[in-house]
Amino acid sequence: MRLATITNWAYGATVLLTLVSGSTMLLASSAHEQERAAVAQRHVLQLAATELRRELFYLTDHARQFVMTGDPTYRILYKHGEKALASLETRARPLAEAGATPAELGTVREAIRWADALRDAQRAAFAAHDRGDIPAARAILFGAEHERELDRAQSLVERFQAQLDTRTAYEIEAATRVARLWRAVSEVMIGITALLFLAVLYFIFKRRVLRPVVRLSDVVGRLAAQDFSAVPPQIDQIDEIGDMAQAINIFRENGLERQRLEAERDRDLAARDLLARMTRRMQGCDTLACLLDITRRFAPEIAPRLAGRLYLLESDSGELRTGCDWLAPAGSRDRFPPSACWALRRGQPHRPAGHAIDVPCAHLDAAPDATPDTLCLPLTAHSEILGLLYFEPRTDGGGEGAPAPESYLYMLAENIGLALANLRLRERLRALAMVDALTGLANRRQLEERLEQLRSDPDAAKQPMSCLMIDVDHFKRFNDCHGHDAGDAVLRAVGETLADCTRGAGDAYRYGGEEFTVLLPMPVARAMERAAEIRRRIAALRLSHGGVALGSITASIGIAATPDHCPPGRLIVTADAALLRAKEQGRDRIEVALGREAEG
Ligand code: GH3
Ligand code: MG
Ligand code: MG
Repeated sequence: MRLATITNWAYGATVLLTLVSGSTMLLASSAHEQERAAVAQRHVLQLAATELRRELFYLTDHARQFVMTGDPTYRILYKHGEKALASLETRARPLAEAGATPAELGTVREAIRWADALRDAQRAAFAAHDRGDIPAARAILFGAEHERELDRAQSLVERFQAQLDTRTAYEIEAATRVARLWRAVSEVMIGITALLFLAVLYFIFKRRVLRPVVRLSDVVGRLAAQDFSAVPPQIDQIDEIGDMAQAINIFRENGLERQRLEAERDRDLAARDLLARMTRRMQGCDTLACLLDITRRFAPEIAPRLAGRLYLLESDSGELRTGCDWLAPAGSRDRFPPSACWALRRGQPHRPAGHAIDVPCAHLDAAPDATPDTLCLPLTAHSEILGLLYFEPRTDGGGEGAPAPESYLYMLAENIGLALANLRLRERLRALAMVDALTGLANRRQLEERLEQLRSDPDAAKQPMSCLMIDVDHFKRFNDCHGHDAGDAVLRAVGETLADCTRGAGDAYRYGGEEFTVLLPMPVARAMERAAEIRRRIAALRLSHGGVALGSITASIGIAATPDHCPPGRLIVTADAALLRAKEQGRDRIEVALGREAEG
């Protein structure tokens, strides 16, 4: 019941009880009035009775005194008293008006009649006295008859008094009883009112208001301090306090929801920040190892409850092979063909455990009837498969916080895929920049990088390194006689011969035009053997272009070696000088550098 309703009922009950107790007090007061009236009536009737007795006594006494003494004063007094007497009805009326009962009135009337009879006797005595018959007068007034009548009248007066006493005593007692009863009722009513008031006070203010309010105020204080672990007390009462408790509970639930949303937003921001940081780091990667390292570091931070692997597609074997892993994944094989993964087959993310039935990938080691909760995300760029990002729940059950939303994993895969594609593109561009397009040999830039490495490595000067500068003899003639394409064909053939002769032993470069360089990490004696073979194999080339034989091809070769002839930084210059000598001495020959002084 609501407090307002209880309060209204309590007010109503208190007012009613107050009215009842007021009425009973009035009734008690009226009973007191009755009691007082009875007492007053008794007093009036008592006076009347006393008057009657006095009248009987004085008249009899005056009459007797007169006949005894003959003193006329007594006769005057008698006459006086007699004159004052009214008729029977006139004397009885005040008694009737004063509330005497018919029985009492009957007794009084009889007493008056006897008093009148006495007066008749006394008059007869006076008459006898007037006649001078004093003994007869005395005999009348002191005779037995007169005495009996006097006694009779007096006893009637006493009876009246007794009747009056009995009746008024009864009436007073009844009025007193009623007054006492109403007073008791009114006291009880006042007591009940007071008890009701106290009960309402206790029930409403202590139990229904004070106690829950104290409990709620503690919770409100903690909630105001953003401590949403404070649980509001369970208050089931349907009233204003219950409404307040419900409102506080809703406030707390809103606060908890807000906290949850804030935590989610913070997690989301943190994850996005991690993804953004990872992407920036990946943009700065120039090697695959660097990219794998970044993936291995960031992936477990973005999805702490998932172990995973990054597979890369090997171009030579055509298989997916683990590039890196994190948090010890155990469910997927280290390498497998692309056909073993449904994500790669379809080019779509694949998560077999879900709402609908699905097939697990063949690269998983799960039991045949079990559907592991794994996620495979293909890494693609320009519709080309680059690799696969694989996730599975951690076997140690570790990882704090809520599971990372799948969208983060998709973003992760997208970023890794893009970074891989960038890296591949970069490698391809770099390769293009380092390779001679015509011959497929490393170009002069690569040669210079290699020489720079040798120059900057203090140990390189101590290691044997031979450099061959090779120039096709009279190459201009091929261009002039057979066209530029024929010249190109000659250059390609020479390039292939050099690649063939240096495979596994050193590196061949196109230095520029029809000049080539070969670096052989070997002493000059062995390099001379290799140069001789090169010269022999070039000379053995038989090329034709457009059905026309191009004729013999020869080359001159200059050789220089570290540490015999020069430091690494001067290998090209020294070998070039030897080549110049070969040219000067008639071409199609091999010349070795003479020494540091001579070539410097
Ligand atoms: P030498 O025996 O003194 O070396 O004479 P040579 O004709 O080989 O040398 P020269 O420097 O006189 O001529 C080189 C020519 O090579 C000039 C140039 O047109 C030609 N050449 C340079 N690069 C290319 C190329 O990529 N393709 C073709 N077809 N010709 C080229
Ligand atoms: Mg030349
Ligand atoms: Mg030449």
